[in-house]
Amino acid sequence: MISPEVKSKYQLVVGLEVHAQLHTETKIFSGDSNSFGDSPNTNVSVISLGHPGVMPKLNRKAVEYAIRMGLACNCQISEYQFFDRKNYFYPDLPKGYQITQDKTPICVGGEVPVYYGDGIHSKVVLNRIHLEEDAGKSIHLDGEKDTLIDLNRAGVPLIEIVTEPVIHTAEEAGAFLAEVRRIVRYLGICDGNMEEGSLRCDANVSVRPVDSAELGKKVELKNMNSIKSVIRAIEHEMERQIDLIEDGEEILSETRTFDVNTGRSSGMRTKEELNDYRYFPEPDLSPIHVTEAWLHEIRDTQPTLPSEFREKFQTDFGLSLYDAEVLTDRKELAYFFDSFCEKTTNYKAAANWTMGPIKSYLNEHGKEIDELEIGVSRLAEVIDLVDQNVVSFSAASQQLLPYLFKHPHVQAKEAAHALNIIQESDSDSIQPMIDEVLAANPDKVKAYQNGKKGLIGMFMGELMKKTQGKVDPKVANKLLRDSLEL
Ligand code: ADP
Ligand code: MG
Repeated sequence: MISPEVKSKYQLVVGLEVHAQLHTETKIFSGDSNSFGDSPNTNVSVISLGHPGVMPKLNRKAVEYAIRMGLACNCQISEYQFFDRKNYFYPDLPKGYQITQDKTPICVGGEVPVYYGDGIHSKVVLNRIHLEEDAGKSIHLDGEKDTLIDLNRAGVPLIEIVTEPVIHTAEEAGAFLAEVRRIVRYLGICDGNMEEGSLRCDANVSVRPVDSAELGKKVELKNMNSIKSVIRAIEHEMERQIDLIEDGEEILSETRTFDVNTGRSSGMRTKEELNDYRYFPEPDLSPIHVTEAWLHEIRDTQPTLPSEFREKFQTDFGLSLYDAEVLTDRKELAYFFDSFCEKTTNYKAAANWTMGPIKSYLNEHGKEIDELEIGVSRLAEVIDLVDQNVVSFSAASQQLLPYLFKHPHVQAKEAAHALNIIQESDSDSIQPMIDEVLAANPDKVKAYQNGKKGLIGMFMGELMKKTQGKVDPKVANKLLRDSLEL
C-alpha cells in the first residue's frame, strides 16, 4: 500500500477506448444476422469468412447509429468518410485485416457530461468516434488445449469511442462509462451489456508528478467486463506505476490484463512487439457521404438523452440532482417518471413514490418498471388522496398501493373505500371519539392541564387506536388541544 503522502505527489491520467456493438439486424458489411447467443459459426457467409473476391456492402443503419451517438456527444459529424484496412494476423480475423476508420472517423471531438462523488460534474472530452467491424471470438475452454473460434461476431458493427487523456480518477472513468452505457441504451443503438461483451472498455493509464507538464508512459488495460472492474483495475494500475517510479524503475509501454479474482494485472505484450498495421484505404467500399438532409432527418428523430431528462427533472420538476440521477439511470424509468409527472403536479411526491414503494414492489416481484400493471393516472390519484388528507400516507403506502397493484383497474378512491381507510376529517364525527378518550383517562387529563403537555402524544395514540388510524391527524390534533384547554 502506498501512503497518501506519496500518492498525492502524482496525478493519474486515463484515456478510455470504448467499443459498443451496434444493435443492427445484420452485420456491417454483409446480410449475416447480428444476433447474440446463436450457435457458433451459424451467422457466417463467405463475406464473414473473408473468402477472396467477395465484396463488402455497407449497412446504412450502422452509419446512422454512429451518427446518433456523435450527435448525442456533441461531436462534429464528418461529411465525407472512407474506410481503412488495418492489417494483422489473428485466427479470429479470417480476412487478415479489419475494416475500420483510421484517417476519417465519422465523429470528431465532442464530450460526455459526467457526475460522480458528491455532485462533482465534469465533461470528458472525446477525441473521436469511428465505425469498424468486430473480429470473431477466440474461446479458450478449461482443459481444452485447442482454441475454439466462433465467427458469428466477425463483422458485427462497432463504434469505438476514444477519449482524450483527461480523466483523473478511477471514479470519473467509471462515471464516464456509466454515462456512455446510458446514452447508447437511450439511443437504442446498443444493449450496453458489458458481461456479454456488447460494451467493452480498454483503459490507458499513466501517472505523472503533479508539477509535470508531460504525460507519463501509458499502460493499456484490457478485458474488463464490468464498470466495477474497470475502476478496480485503474486504481490497481495507478498504485503499481507509482510503486515502480518510487523504486526508480521504468514504466514499460505495454498491454496488461486485469484479473478480477486476484485483483492483480499481468503483462500481455509490450509496445515493441506491437504490429505495424499498414493502414490503407479500403478499395472495395465507396466513401460515405453524410448529406445535410440525412443529418437533419437523424437529428429530428433523436430520442431524449439522459442528460436532457436530468435537466428537465431538476429544472421543470424541481428535483435534486441526486433524485434526477436515480430516476434517469434507466431509460424505462425516466420515461415512466416523465409520464407520471404529466398526471400530477406534486413532482416530489411522484419521485418519492417511484423511488420508494414502487421500486420496492418491483424488486420484490423481480419486475421491470415497464411491467408495472398499474397506470400512472392511478398512481396520481393516490398522490391526490394523500394530499387532500383523504387517506394517510401510511395507509396509502401500506394498504392502498399493494391493493391497487393487484387490482389496477379499480379507482384509487373506490379502493380506499373498500379497504375502509378513508380518514375522518370532519370535526363533528371526530369530537365524540375525543370525548370518549378523555373520559376514559381523567388522571391524564388533569396531569395535562397541570402542565404535562407531552401527554398530547398519548391522547393521539389512544384516539388512533380507537379509530384504527383513520382520523386526519391534523384535524384531530387541533380538536384534542381545544378539548383539553380548561
Ligand atoms: P496509441 O497511439 O498508443 O494508440 P493514442 O494517442 O491513439 O495512442 O491514444 C489511445 C488512447 O490512449 C486514447 O484514449 C488516449 O486518450 C489515451 N492516452 C494517450 N496517451 C496517454 C497517456 N500518456 N496516459 C493515459 N492515456 C493516454
Ligand atoms: Mg491509437
